[in-house]
Amino acid sequence: MSSRRIHSMELPRKVIVGSKVLETVGKLCVEMGFKGRVLVLTGPHTYHVAGKTVLDSLAEQGLEASHILVEEASTSSVERAVEALRRVNLAIGVGGGKVIDVAKLASAKAGIPFISCPTAASHDGIASPQASIRNVEGLTSVRAQAPMAIVADIDVILKAPYRLTASGCGDILAKFTAVRDWWLAHQLRGEYYGDYAANLALMSAKLVARNSAIIGEGSEEGLRTVVEALISCGVAMSIAGSSRPCSGSEHLFSHALERVAPGKALHGERCGVGAIMMAYLHKLRWRRIREVLRRVGAPVTAAELGVSAEDVVEALTIAHQVRPERYTILGEKGLTRASAEKLARVTQVI
Ligand SMILES: [Zn+2]
Repeated sequence: MSSRRIHSMELPRKVIVGSKVLETVGKLCVEMGFKGRVLVLTGPHTYHVAGKTVLDSLAEQGLEASHILVEEASTSSVERAVEALRRVNLAIGVGGGKVIDVAKLASAKAGIPFISCPTAASHDGIASPQASIRNVEGLTSVRAQAPMAIVADIDVILKAPYRLTASGCGDILAKFTAVRDWWLAHQLRGEYYGDYAANLALMSAKLVARNSAIIGEGSEEGLRTVVEALISCGVAMSIAGSSRPCSGSEHLFSHALERVAPGKALHGERCGVGAIMMAYLHKLRWRRIREVLRRVGAPVTAAELGVSAEDVVEALTIAHQVRPERYTILGEKGLTRASAEKLARVTQVI
């Protein structure tokens, strides 16, 4: 790419991580200069545990707040949200992955900013400019916009099932292989590679690896590490201008496995297992990744993912087709059946 290429970054203006911070969202909106109407998007459950608090805090500041429920991250949910957002000047997504994804994409389409209030630490979409939306072809990742602010309430996230946090760790450890794939694509295909974004993503993975014991205990301190690491990964994507620093061959495996065995495991859980296998191919310390996943209580085998050995082998052989433009260690032809089976066996996934 030309050296005259303009690289533009869109970053969050404010990141707040702490106890009872949802109560301050209204004040934050006023401080950031928002007036008038705000739309809060929540899930049916997250409305009760977090959405109401945000709505109350907006009302307290004299902001005219309304809310809609988001049940799924589909194109029809996005369209419905875009319609509702036409009458407001700020969107706030309060919930897990699906709500945040819909709020992110719909607000981008409506041309208004959005604030991300995650209620779980299950993947890096809570702070990234990318949204995963289900359409007729399945789940696809589309570029939306970075959140204007991120407000992560540790008290609320601590109450979410621990499995979600362990899954978030899988999504973070995936950066070890994602960054290697990015570097490979840079070397072999001349793709843009940004050292700063790559190192930011890697730092998150290293922090989680180093703190795996306290994370596994389910402590507040451990959760904070995971939340901050997820936010840093989102920022790394904003800096890179793509999901490259955070999504490589292990994500291709995760998406392929979701196609082969839909709804069996969480995104980050599949990415973690993918990272073990792709780390082997990259000659990285795959045993260390496996050990860290174990320590945080994330799956490391097909059985723990709730899928069969055959599902894993099948997913490995089709992973390179999921996103052909994304060059990774899987190459253009992918793995043969025999190589896929060998890889899964040697890394003890099957
Ligand atoms: Zn991910």
